[in-house]
Amino acid sequence: MPLVSMKGILQRAKEEQYAVGHYNLNSLQWAIPILQAAEEERAPVILASSDRLVDRLGGFRTIAAVIRELVREMSITVPVVLHLDHAQSVDRCKRAMEAGYTSVMIDGSKYPIDENIAMTREVTEYARAYGVSVEAEVGIVGGSEDGMEGSIRYADPGECLRMVKEAQIDALAAALGSVHGPYRGEPRLNFERMKEISERTDVPLVLHGGSGLPDDQIQRAIRLGHAKINVNTECAQAWTDAVRDFLTDENNARVYEPQVILKPAHEAIKRTVKEKIRLFGTGNRC
Ligand code: 13P
Repeated sequence: MPLVSMKGILQRAKEEQYAVGHYNLNSLQWAIPILQAAEEERAPVILASSDRLVDRLGGFRTIAAVIRELVREMSITVPVVLHLDHAQSVDRCKRAMEAGYTSVMIDGSKYPIDENIAMTREVTEYARAYGVSVEAEVGIVGGSEDGMEGSIRYADPGECLRMVKEAQIDALAAALGSVHGPYRGEPRLNFERMKEISERTDVPLVLHGGSGLPDDQIQRAIRLGHAKINVNTECAQAWTDAVRDFLTDENNARVYEPQVILKPAHEAIKRTVKEKIRLFGTGNRC
C-alpha cells in the first residue's frame, strides 16, 4: 500500500474516538519493529522523523525511499504515514513533500501568532498539490528533545480557532501542559481548555509528549478530541534499557555482533508500540 496522508485516518479516529500513534524514528531500523507492531495489531500508524534528526538519518529523500520500500518489502497492508515532526521552516516542509513525505508539521510556535499562521498557510497552500496533510502548533509544548527546548505556554482558544480557519490545517497540536521527554512531577493537562479548543475548532487534536502520561489522562484526551498521540521517549527508553541490560549481562561479555545486541532492543520497541496501540484504541481499525 502506498504511504498515505494523515487527513482521512485522523478524521475517522476523531469520529470513532481513538488515536493514531505517531512514533519517532531515531534510526531507520526502528521502522521495522514499528511497522510489524502496526501490521500485527491491524492499526494505522504514523512514522515520524524529527526535523532536527533528518540529516543524521540520511536526508529527506533517503528516509522517504527507505520507508516507502520497507512498506513494500514487508507487505504492509495497514495505512502508513511518513510525517515530518517539528519542521523548523517552510522550506524544510517543501523539501520533505518533494521527497515523498505524506505529512508535515510546521512548528511556528516560537513566533507571534500572526507569523505562525502566515507560515503555516504557506505550507498548507503548497501541500494541497501534493495531497500532504499539515499539522501546526499553537502555544508551546514544554520539555526538551533532539536539541529542541521549550517552557510550557498553554494554547489560547481564540488563536487556535484562527489557525484552523486561516491556515486550513488538518491537525492541531494545541499545547495544553504536555512536555517532550520525561515529566518532572505530576503531568498537568488543562482539560477544561482542551474541551473548549476541541469544541471551537472541531479539528483532530495532536497530543505531543505522549510518553509518561497516565493512562486515564491519555484516554480523557482522546475523548476530548485527540486523534494523534506522539511517542518518542518511551520507545527510546525501551530501546536503551534493552541494550543496557544486554551489555551488562556478563553472559554476553564476548558478543560483538550489532544485530545480536540490537535484537532485544527492537523487540522492546515492538512491545512498546503494541502497548500504545492498545491504549490508544487503534487496533483492528483496518
Ligand atoms: P515524547 O518524547 O514525550 O514521547 O514526545 C514525543 C513528541 O511529542 C514528538 O513530537
